[in-house]
Order: sequence, then C-alpha cells, then structure tokens
Amino acid sequence: MHYCINCGAKTESIVPPMDNRLRDVCPECSYVHYVNPNNIVGVIGSFEGKVLLCKRNTEPRKNYWTVPAGFMENGESLLEGAQREASEEVGIKPMPSNLFMVYSVPHISQVHFYFYSRLEDMSTNIGEEINDIMFADYKDIPWDDLAFNSIRVLLKHFFEVGEEKAANSFFNLTSNG
Ligand SMILES: [Zn+2]
Repeated sequence: MHYCINCGAKTESIVPPMDNRLRDVCPECSYVHYVNPNNIVGVIGSFEGKVLLCKRNTEPRKNYWTVPAGFMENGESLLEGAQREASEEVGIKPMPSNLFMVYSVPHISQVHFYFYSRLEDMSTNIGEEINDIMFADYKDIPWDDLAFNSIRVLLKHFFEVGEEKAANSFFNLTSNG
C-alpha cells in the first residue's frame, strides 16, 4: 500500500507504537494499513462414496480440478461463505455440513476452511467459474491435475477416513510450503 486509502498521502513503512512489525503507516492521518491472511472457504461434498470435483474455468490453474471454494466475503460466517461458493460454482445447497479440514498456508498467508457435506443426489448447476464437474472415487481422482496442494491433502484425508466417518472427522493441518 504506497498511498493511504484514507487520505491519499504517501505511506511510510514503520513499526507503529505498541506493535512489533513493519506496517505501511500514513504520516498525515496516522492510518495503519494492516495486511492479514485471507480465508478460503469451500465444501467437499460426496454422494455414495464419490466426491464432487469441479474444473476451474478461471486463472490461476484454469482447467485443473478442485472442490467448490473461494475467498470468504466480509459479513458472512465460514459456513455461509462455503455454502455460497458451493451454490455459485456448482449449484448445490450443502446441508448439513461439518468443518472437516482447516489448512493453514503460511507462505502465502492463507487459511483454508473446508466443510464436509453428504449430498442428497448428484444434481448440479455449473456456474461460469467452472467448466466441468465429476463425481470421483479414489481411483478416479485426477491426482496429477489437481489445482492446488490443499485439494490433494483434503482428498487424501477424505478417502483415508471414508464417507461414513467424514461427518465426524476434523483435521487441523499446516502446509510446509
Ligand atoms: Zn492518510
């Protein structure tokens, strides 16, 4: 942040009083431009042991496979964000849902929250950010064409515990980069 979002003056990188790290601070109005991690919220849904995957229609990682997920918006809860993404991207209304995996990615300052939901059927309605979907069991997962490492970790843990136990499982993991 080179210019203050409050008054437009050029900012300075300093450690503010009572803080312990460099921030972009406005010398005119004293506004501190905090930059904090982003939350990614998503849903891993399954039907009869098969996971709903979707193929990205946007960069980055266009045409690679993932689960419906995206950036949490202001003013919504984790679950609301995850369900919004699932609704927007693949047209599912995942209820009920339990938090299945929290995945911290410190090197890019992200925290991913994936809810698990057992789907009532295989009906979907693909949004414009997605160009294909599939329901995949373990052997059908396109392991070499997954969009992100977090998705690989998510799917690996899902198939290790299995669909029956997924609703009662929780993993708190951190990417090692
Ligand atoms: Zn300012």
